Amino acid sequence: MTNDYDAIIIGAGVIGTCTAFELSKKGYKVLSIDKMPEAGYGSTSASSAIIRTYYSAYETCAIAFEGWHHWRDWQNYVGKHDGLQPIKYRETGCLVIKTDHNHNLAKICEMMTRIGCPYSDVTSDQITDYLPIADTQKFYPAKAMDDDGFGEPTGGIVNGAVFFPAGGYVNDPKLAADNARRAAETHGATFLFNSEVTQILTFDGRASGVKLSNGQKYHAPIVINVAGPYSSKINSMAGVDKTMKMTTRALRQEVAYVPSPSGFDFEKDGLVLSDSDIQTYCRPELGNTVSIGSEDPPCDDKEWVDDPDNYNQEFTDQWTVQVMRMAQRLTGLPIPNTASGIVALYDVTEDWMPIYDKSDLPGFYMGIGTSGNQFKNAPVAGKILTALVEKCEAGHDHDKDPITFHLDQINKDISLATFSRNREINQNSSFSVIG
Ligand SMILES: Cc1cc2nc3c(=O)[nH]c(=O)nc-3n(C[C@H](O)[C@H](O)[C@H](O)COP(=O)(O)OP(=O)(O)OC[C@H]3O[C@@H](n4cnc5c(N)ncnc54)[C@H](O)[C@@H]3O)c2cc1C
Repeated sequence: MTNDYDAIIIGAGVIGTCTAFELSKKGYKVLSIDKMPEAGYGSTSASSAIIRTYYSAYETCAIAFEGWHHWRDWQNYVGKHDGLQPIKYRETGCLVIKTDHNHNLAKICEMMTRIGCPYSDVTSDQITDYLPIADTQKFYPAKAMDDDGFGEPTGGIVNGAVFFPAGGYVNDPKLAADNARRAAETHGATFLFNSEVTQILTFDGRASGVKLSNGQKYHAPIVINVAGPYSSKINSMAGVDKTMKMTTRALRQEVAYVPSPSGFDFEKDGLVLSDSDIQTYCRPELGNTVSIGSEDPPCDDKEWVDDPDNYNQEFTDQWTVQVMRMAQRLTGLPIPNTASGIVALYDVTEDWMPIYDKSDLPGFYMGIGTSGNQFKNAPVAGKILTALVEKCEAGHDHDKDPITFHLDQINKDISLATFSRNREINQNSSFSVIG
C-alpha cells in the first residue's frame, strides 16, 4: 500500500497542532485533519488557558513547569514567520489557598522544590498583599445553593496560601493552536479542515489511515487521536477502547465572566487564584472582567455528555453558584442578572490525568483525556507523543518497558508510564480540574 503521509493527526486543537509541529520538525510528513474550519475551534477555544505548575502528581508538575518555559518564550518556540501574530502570555503569578483538605499544599511544595520551581509561602495576613479585595474567611466546604448555610463563613480565616510566580494565562487559546499550526506548516505539515474522520483504516493488523465522511481515504502508517472530547469516539472507531483500563468521557463545564468589583482593576491588578476553600478558580479577563471556573466540588452534579455535538449550551444554575462562591472571596464582586461566559466540554479520565500513549493497535496513538488541565502542557504533550511514535515505531515495547522522557528545560526525567492507558487510577490525583 502506498502511504500518502508518514502520520495522520485527528484533531487540530492545541495538543494536535503542537504534535503536528513536533513531528514535522523531526521530518515526518504530517497530515492534520479537523472537522472544524480552523485550528483551535474545539475545546481549545473555550480554554481558560491558565498556565500553572501545581498538580497533584510529580510528573504532571514537571511537564507543566517544562511547558511554562515555552509559553514565556513562545515566539522562540513557534519561530518567527511572516504574518504570524503570536499569542500573549501574561505572567500574573498564581495564588493558591491552603486548606486542611489540600494538606496546606505541603506535598505540592515538596514537588516544586524537586523540580526547581519557585514558590513562596503566604500567611493569611499577607493574602491581601497579593489580592487586596480578598475576604480571607473560611467557607469550606463548597455547598449547593439550596444547602443550609450556603454562602456563610464556616469559622476562622483561611490557613494561608502559596504564591507561584511562574504562572499566568494566555490571552487567546485558539490563536495558540493557530500559531502552532503555522509553525507546523513551515516544517511541511498539511492541514485539512471541514473534514470529518469517520473510520480508522487498518491493514495487516495495524493502523493504515483514515476515511472521511465524504468517502475520501488517506493512508499513513501512524494515526494519532487528539480529538479532545470526541476522543472516545475515535478510539472506538479504531477498536482500541475495549482493551484499555482508562476511559475518556466528555464533561460539560461552565465558565462565568463577571465585571471586576467596583474600584478594583482585576484585569490589571488581579492574578490567577486557585481557591480550594471555595472550590472555585478565577483569572483576569479582557475588559476588566473576572473569569470564574469550578474546581468540581462533590456537591455539584457532573453532567457527562455522550454526544459532544449535542449538549446544552445554555448557562444554568451552575453559572450562578460559581459566581456566588467567588463572591464569597472577592469582596464586592457583582452578580449580574445576565450570564456571560463559556459553556464547553472537558475530556476526562478516571483520575483527571491525561493519556499520552500508544494503543493495542500498532501505529495508533493517543493524546487524550486532557481533563480540563492540559492546555498548558500542549508543547510538551507534542514532544511526548513524538517520542512515543519514534521509539515504538523503532520496535520499543513501551507497555513492558515504559519510556523515560527527558524534560530539556528543567533537566529532569519522567516515566511516561504515568500517562499510560493501562495505568491504575492515580490515587495522588485531586480528582478535579487541578489534576
Ligand atoms: C472550559 C475549559 C477551561 C479550560 N481551562 C484550562 C486552563 O485554564 N488551563 C489548562 O491548561 N487547560 C484548560 N483546559 C483544558 C484545555 O483547554 C484542553 O485540555 C485542550 O485545549 C485540549 O486540546 P485538544 O487539542 O486535545 O482538544 P480540542 O481543542 O478539543 O481539539 C480536538 C479537535 O478534534 C476535532 N475532531 C474531533 N473529532 C473529529 C473527527 N471525527 N474528525 C475530524 N476532527 C475531529 C475537533 O473538531 C477539535 O477541533 C480547559 C478546557 C475547557 C473546556
